[in-house]
Formats: sequence, structure tokens, C-alpha cells
Amino acid sequence: MKQIAVTGGKGGTGKSTVATALAVSLGKKHRVLLVDADVDCPNDHLLLGIKREKVKTVWQRIPKWDFEKCIKCGKCAEACKVNAIFAPKEKQPIFMQQQCNGCGACALSCPTQAIGWDKKEIGHVFRGKAHGIDFLGGELKVNEAVSEFVVDALKETLEKNAEEYDFVVVDTAAGTHCDVISALQGSEFALAVTEPTPLGKHDLELIMKLLSELQVPFEIVLNRSDVGKANLIEKVAAKYGKSIAAKIPYKKEIMIAYSKGIPVKDKSIEELREMVK
Ligand code: SF4
Ligand code: SF4
Repeated sequence: MKQIAVTGGKGGTGKSTVATALAVSLGKKHRVLLVDADVDCPNDHLLLGIKREKVKTVWQRIPKWDFEKCIKCGKCAEACKVNAIFAPKEKQPIFMQQQCNGCGACALSCPTQAIGWDKKEIGHVFRGKAHGIDFLGGELKVNEAVSEFVVDALKETLEKNAEEYDFVVVDTAAGTHCDVISALQGSEFALAVTEPTPLGKHDLELIMKLLSELQVPFEIVLNRSDVGKANLIEKVAAKYGKSIAAKIPYKKEIMIAYSKGIPVKDKSIEELREMVK
């Protein structure tokens, strides 16, 4: 099994378009699993018209108060670094559960053991099938803040199934935060997708720095290559001894496929498929 990450420093570069098109293209001759690890904003299932089936519910622990034991000292609110607890003077603490990350500092700080544990549902892991490939994806519920637990549950499900496939294509979240690092860590190769704009250049530099630190070999894919200034990207790529490995043009056919929820077919995607094999 070969795991390939499709990543990018910013949202909207066409990362998911590349990941879905590449997975479908590889799927013509190989067993392929597409993993949507962008749990805050998953959209691969929409791009491919996949009907998702829920396979796992993701829970997070949250504190639960026994107010009979509470002496209204306010120490739990002081201990909470994300301001999920408000303790009005000499009154019982008020808990804002959306802010809570389950760290446990409040329970540790309570002198009367008035804080125990409950749990809340924060997301799901889904699977599906379409266009000859299998699909696995996570989704964080609206108004929840801690996506790491959903990514962890997704990775756990992936680890149990990965060996059934020749290729696993992981569509990471945008940016360089913990979820992206977690998705990149299991990958032996990455495609850094960018666009020919100053913002694309800036964010590509961040993702190349991260991939170099993680020692994940990578190549650069320039999306909408004929709109904007490709030399901006060439210059920043050269800093890492790279050049643009693949260019995806801005084409009407690609936009139509994107808007209809069907896989993008293009010569550039076929070239990309041969490159990652
Ligand atoms: S578990 Fe952590 S984040 Fe949640 S309320 Fe307690 S201290 Fe705050
Ligand atoms: S730390 Fe414990 S006793 Fe103090 S306000 Fe919080 S729950 Fe009540």
C-alpha cells in the first residue's frame, strides 16, 4: 500500500479537486481508498456524489458538576485556559460546553471533587463508494471546536483497513495545523497543491517548510496554472530545490465536472497519476 497526501497551505486552491480526480484515475487499475481528512469542511463526497454511510460516532469527554459538593471557590474557572467556565463571585460555575476540549484541568483543580465526567457527540466517521473507489471521511459537528478527536478516529479506522488497498489518497485539511500534520505523518509522498497568486506563493512556502521538517517527499501541483503568475511559484519552489511538477489548466470542462459532482478528467490528471505511482 502506498499512502499519498494531497495538501495545500490554503483553502480553495483545488486540493480536493486534485485528490478526488487522482483517486478516481488511480482506481481504474488499482484498489484505491480516498480519505477526506478535512474534517472541519469535508467536501470530497460532494465532489464525487458519494452517498455516505455512518460507521463511527466520535465522542469527547466533558466535565459534569455535582453542585452539592461545590463550595463556589472559582478554581475550576481559573484553571480553564479556553474560558469554558465562568464563575461569578460566590456563585456556582457556569459551563460553556462548546469551548471545552476535555483537558481535565478543571477537575484536577477542584478542592472538593465536585467535577466528574460526561461525554458529548462531536462528529462522525463515514464510508462510501463511487466511481470504482472506496471512501472514508470524518466530519466535525457544527459548533464543535476540537477536530483532533475526529481525525484520530478517522486514522484509527484507516489503519484497520489500509492494507486492503494499493493506494490510499488522503485529502488533508488546508493549512499547517495539528490535523494536517497528523494526516501527513502516515504518508510516504505528498502533492502540494497551489495556485499562481501571491497568497498561493506564501502558503506554498509554509507547506513546503512543514513537509521538509516532516521529511515527507513531495512535488508541487499548480492549479489554474494559466491564470496568474506561474513564475511566482517557480521562484519559491526553487528555494526548496523544486520546480512545478504538474500544471492543471483553468478549463471550462474542469469547472463543469466540479459543479456537477463528477470526477475531473484531464490529461494533467493522467500525468499526475503516472507521477505518483
Ligand atoms: S475539561 Fe478543560 S477545557 Fe473543558 S472545562 Fe475543564 S478545564 Fe476547561
Ligand atoms: S473548583 Fe470545585 S468547588 Fe470550586 S467552584 Fe469549581 S466546582 Fe465548585
